[in-house]
Amino acid sequence: MMKTAVFDTKAYDRDSLRRADASGAIDWRFHEARLTSETAPLAQDARAVCVFVNDQVDRPCLEALAAQGVQLVALRCTGFNNVDVPAAKDLGLTVTRVPIYSPYAVAEHAVALLLTLNRKLHRAFNRVRELNFSLDGLVGFDLHGKTAGIVGTGKIGRIVARILHGFGMRVIAYDPFPVPDWAAEEGVEYVEPSVLASSSDVISLHIPLTPATKHLIRQETIGLMKPGVILINVSRGALIDTRALIDALKSGHLGGVALDVYEEEEGIFFEDLSGQVLQDDDLARLLTFPNVIISAHQAFLTHEALADIGRTTVANLEALAGGQPFAEGSVLT
Ligand code: NAD
Repeated sequence: MMKTAVFDTKAYDRDSLRRADASGAIDWRFHEARLTSETAPLAQDARAVCVFVNDQVDRPCLEALAAQGVQLVALRCTGFNNVDVPAAKDLGLTVTRVPIYSPYAVAEHAVALLLTLNRKLHRAFNRVRELNFSLDGLVGFDLHGKTAGIVGTGKIGRIVARILHGFGMRVIAYDPFPVPDWAAEEGVEYVEPSVLASSSDVISLHIPLTPATKHLIRQETIGLMKPGVILINVSRGALIDTRALIDALKSGHLGGVALDVYEEEEGIFFEDLSGQVLQDDDLARLLTFPNVIISAHQAFLTHEALADIGRTTVANLEALAGGQPFAEGSVLT
């Protein structure tokens, strides 16, 4: 049996991984702690570690893992901005990810956030429970006939584009690697980033976090956007400069913001902090705006996506154990 230390786990991770390991080939060691250089000793005697979006797999952490004999870092997510891939390569560690899992899960969540925010369902829900049936302040706008700007037309962005097109929105997009045939088929028009910013009533981000995309949304790029624009981010928190976002919300330039990710989410999202004092002042400020909704990185959380993640992750762990090739498209080093 191959010992695998699984970090940052919740009940739904443990269930989906165990279910995917039907043959019982993996000796699971589930940990609630996130992987950092300090918690790396929890992987003692493990051949593989399995990590998620907020584990800090930097060079010191990878050095500690390699020194203990770990051979594989198996990410159970798509994005890998939290792993120092060149360092893993230097140390001879293999890094795998889940290159694809239900992109519908993430795309549908982005649209759920948009509909909630625009039609102010988050406020309506609370009001009605308080027996406040007034409609003051709940006016939204028809999406039909408005323009949606999709930043990144990869697996998720393309589905969001299709759904919004289905609402009767005009869909424009920017991607440095456009897919013209797809765009022509779906009635999507590729435009330059500045045109996307200035023409869109709704902007949705579907790009990876890299040094080039960090703070893509900042004072200067927000300034190009139409007053009243709704901004959706279900990709990675650091795509947005939070301070600039707060300023643009305070000035009223942004009409609404829906986030499933937050720049400083590590240590906050996925945890129940309801009995504690929130120490993050920017997050606290964001939570005060009536036109901001935040979910705690749950866009991936559907039965289908969890099953896909479990299957690919287990396939990669079994591949290490059996010396077979890793799942297609999952090897990063
Ligand atoms: P993908 O690799 O299929 O597509 C990403 C697209 O972004 C590519 O087409 C790429 O060319 C494009 N791109 C890169 N830089 C760009 C830029 N500066 N401007 C415009 N486009 C750019 O990825 P995907 O599967 O669609 O996922 C997108 C992101 O969603 C992931 O990187 C991940 O960070 C995030 N994600 C979040 C969740 C969640 O639960 N919230 C779940 C899965 C993925």
